[in-house]
Amino acid sequence: MRKNTLEGLKDQLNPTSKISIISHKNPDGDALGSSLALHLFLKQLEIPSQVIMPNNYPYFLKWLPNNQDILCYDSKEAECKARLEASDFIFTLDFNHLNRVGGLGDFLMDLKATFVMIDHHQEPSDYADYMLVNTQIASTCELVYEFITSQYPNTSLSADVASCLYTGIMTDTGSFRFPSTTSETHRIIANLIDAGADNSQIHQHIYDNNNISRLHLLGVALNNLKVVEELNTAYIFLSQEDLNSNHFKKGDTEGFVNYGLSIKGIKFAVIFIENKAENIIKISLRSIGDFNVNAFARKHFSGGGHNNAAGGKSDLDLKSTLAKFETTLKLYKEDLS
Ligand code: 5GP
Ligand code: MN
Repeated sequence: MRKNTLEGLKDQLNPTSKISIISHKNPDGDALGSSLALHLFLKQLEIPSQVIMPNNYPYFLKWLPNNQDILCYDSKEAECKARLEASDFIFTLDFNHLNRVGGLGDFLMDLKATFVMIDHHQEPSDYADYMLVNTQIASTCELVYEFITSQYPNTSLSADVASCLYTGIMTDTGSFRFPSTTSETHRIIANLIDAGADNSQIHQHIYDNNNISRLHLLGVALNNLKVVEELNTAYIFLSQEDLNSNHFKKGDTEGFVNYGLSIKGIKFAVIFIENKAENIIKISLRSIGDFNVNAFARKHFSGGGHNNAAGGKSDLDLKSTLAKFETTLKLYKEDLS
């Protein structure tokens, strides 16, 4: 494993460097926030960079400063590949395995660029030349903040950089309520507000941007919620038909899984969402306390993530996936009851 530091990287970055910044498939607030913050900070230093995302992102993140600079691989395949191929440096943010970037993984693996990993997920793989990895930290945005403030102490953060970082920290800490939220998180947040992040407006952009069909879909999801009482588990499923009949748009199901966890006594909550286009069931898993959903997702549903928040997928149909889940769950009786 590489040394876990970005020491020495700064000296290699200059206005003629060719830099790409890429994050994981289905990018969330932390993926986009950290990538755009780094992009905008480098821009402040007159170092150009290109942000690339494997696929599109939800409407409630489309207000982020300079998000229009992003190239999405699913719609601009050739341009993304050309950019990556020409890069001297590729920053990979908020993920740690090249299989998290969809169809681009094998392509990235063969590139000669210097790879920089900034991430907070468990069990990093070994592709990077420089790493800043801390699995104890709630968000990649906090690590980007650490990189910027430690390496460039004399450059102040712009309001736009602060807003991007604030967004990722807010979304990955569940609005500052998950146990990963520390006093240091709050100190960073205080500094970001001082630098110009408008906390109340950012909250509104993300959480008060619903359309009525999303709330109808939430109604269906809550109707489909099942509780396995003896295992303190709640799960929700949404079929493709449920999505279609409620005008599903990317991002509409964000946060639904947390409703399961809000039930008194529930330690483990899961949502299964059918995706006919990809022929998979996408799974999000959350827990409260010691139950390790990263291990569960890795072992049974080709996924991973953090101890209390992970994702995965199933190639079975929805009904068989739910049956597999119920059967698998019983193996964890000791951990869950
Ligand atoms: P979400 O359920 O919000 O999509 O993701 C929760 C966490 O699990 C995030 O940190 C995300 O990066 C990670 N994650 C989501 N899906 C996958 C997956 O398919 N594989 C892996 N390794 N991690 C995932
Ligand atoms: Mn993250």
